[in-house]
Amino acid sequence: MAVPKKKVSKSKRNMRRAHHALDASNLVECANCGEHMRPHHVCQSCGSYNGREVAAVEELA
Ligand SMILES: [Zn+2]
Repeated sequence: MAVPKKKVSKSKRNMRRAHHALDASNLVECANCGEHMRPHHVCQSCGSYNGREVAAVEELA
């Protein structure tokens, strides 16, 4: 099995991890209720897709 020849320095380790940050997921505004929603998904707030209601919204009792 391949074994690292040298210990990776803190600097090189941190340089590698400089690219690990997560970026925010893309959100669009629902055309029906204006809530932020994932594009190409049914709105989780009002249950609409492409301007019409396609799913019943379950209310938390
Ligand atoms: Zn909506």
